[in-house]
Amino acid sequence: MKRLNTLIVEDSEDDTTLLLMELKAGGYEPYHMRVETSQEMEVELTNHSWDIIFCDFTMPRFSAFDALALLHHTGLDIPFIIVSGTIGEDRAVTAMKAGAHDYILKGNLKRLIPATERELREAIVREEHRRADETIHRLAYIDPITDLPNRARFLELINEAMGQAQSEMRSIALLLMDLDRFKDVNDTLGHDRGDILLKQVGMRLKSVLFEPDIIARIGGDEFGILLPQMPSPDYIQKVIKDLLDTLSPPFIIDRIPISVEASIGVATIPEHAQSPHMLLQKADIAMYHAKELACNYAIYDSNYKLQTHEQLGLMAELREAIEQEQLLLHFQPKLEIKTGRIVGVEALVRWIHPRLGMLYPDQFILAAEHTGLIAPLTRWVLIEALTYSEKLRKQGIHLKVSVNLSARSLHDARLLHMINESLMITGASPAQLMLEVTESAIVLDPNRAEETLLALSYLGFSLSIDDFGTGYTSLASIKRLPINEIKIDKSFITNMLIDNKEALIVHSVIDLGHNLGLKVVAEGIESQELLETLTTLGCDEIQGYFVCEPKAADDLNDWFETSPWGLVTPVESKPDLQST
Ligand code: C2E
Ligand code: MG
Ligand code: MG
Repeated sequence: MKRLNTLIVEDSEDDTTLLLMELKAGGYEPYHMRVETSQEMEVELTNHSWDIIFCDFTMPRFSAFDALALLHHTGLDIPFIIVSGTIGEDRAVTAMKAGAHDYILKGNLKRLIPATERELREAIVREEHRRADETIHRLAYIDPITDLPNRARFLELINEAMGQAQSEMRSIALLLMDLDRFKDVNDTLGHDRGDILLKQVGMRLKSVLFEPDIIARIGGDEFGILLPQMPSPDYIQKVIKDLLDTLSPPFIIDRIPISVEASIGVATIPEHAQSPHMLLQKADIAMYHAKELACNYAIYDSNYKLQTHEQLGLMAELREAIEQEQLLLHFQPKLEIKTGRIVGVEALVRWIHPRLGMLYPDQFILAAEHTGLIAPLTRWVLIEALTYSEKLRKQGIHLKVSVNLSARSLHDARLLHMINESLMITGASPAQLMLEVTESAIVLDPNRAEETLLALSYLGFSLSIDDFGTGYTSLASIKRLPINEIKIDKSFITNMLIDNKEALIVHSVIDLGHNLGLKVVAEGIESQELLETLTTLGCDEIQGYFVCEPKAADDLNDWFETSPWGLVTPVESKPDLQST
């Protein structure tokens, strides 16, 4: 016996009994309910799940058409067979058109079982089709990693919102968010962890949005946020703030804390664009602008277009720039406070662009990282910096040269080889080189960073943590790392004279650094006052415009001649700093 959940819409109990007997004779065990009004049927449809509905054609207070309409309204797909005393051909056709699957005359119940079997089979087929459709829809419209709408669906949603906004004379806004340096995460931690990170980012972003705002993942590390009812610029700002705030605590994946930053571009319809594609494009341009300026977000402006094209052009030109010697190193001296002597220089790369003039690292390092050109660039910087150090050494001036390593370089398996090669080419020794890495580069993959730093330290290179204080490393966690110095980020230094809190941070970083046996360097010193304050706090070295701006090698040589500070040379001249 096959159990059959049977809903019978019928005013006659006798007819119901006959119907049930027929079903039993056909091998079914019907669990049944009989209803004869719209209300009763509605209750049954909502409270139980039915395999099949048999419905009389006309009843005193109800009809098959009413029942079909009700069923249609619920959206359920249940085989619906009319069982009636009389039904004319015309009415039968109309009923089938209204959604009935079959009709059977009460005098001809032997058709009941074959019809039931056929309709149950077809219902299964319909259900399979529906599931397949759903899957296809999912695949076509939902991003499998984040479960958010994908780009295709997002464009449709923008289109729908656009239609509505137009008729109500409203604007809609699109926020395009791109995660900064996400490629590093993928490259260093692997794609699986990259996917987990994207999923978590998607969840956090979604959690700060409210209906009717919509979020979608529209590309690798790009999320689109549609504000279909944009009430005010304040609202956009608030959403941006919420989105960025929610990303600020680091994500933890396999116990690795990963900090995620993002840039947002904003564009609106009808102000900036008239179609969904155009809207995305304009938001994209604004987003690149935000990235370029290293600000959190930018709202589209027609002037941006040019700059972005320029930026794209720059990436293409960078390779040639490295080959054609358009890069130049500036060196900025590091002053040891205790002795008043210059003890090192930091190499800072510049690009003398034939058309645009001097470009600073902030304008092209990011592009270099994204285009894979950071390796040849770093190699060029290493060779150039060591050549300079070697030249000075031969003149009897012993200055350690510091080279900045980007996150990508730190985690590049070829780094050690590249550094050794630079030593061989230039004839310099490891003691002449200090490598600066940022906290964020370490945090990206602390275990791997530790391995690389250990190897570098073992080979005799000095190591420095740059921009200290801006990342998430604690001094305790760097205790394990074989580093020699920390450089307090200039943002703390700049503010310490006006903000007591920042001064306290600098103070404690210096003390803790000393407790760990590290040299502490302050960067961004622009005044005598700052120098004095840092001297009092016991800072070891300073770097900044107050001592000397970054200069090309030749200019720096001239500066050495005239500067009030001493050098580490066999012949020493040294002003007494402590008494200034
Ligand atoms: P950084 O390593 O923290 O370098 C210090 C930056 O502060 C330099 O900017 C320097 O010109 C600037 N600076 C120095 N003294 C002062 C001062 O008194 N006041 C102010 N406001 N700024 C001062 P620059 O040259 O634009 O370099 C920016 C960043 O680009 C560097 O920050 C470094 O992270 C990166 N960078 C520079 N050269 C290279 C390179 O060869 N490779 C890589 N991967 N990154 C580099
Ligand atoms: Mg640096
Ligand atoms: Mg720095």
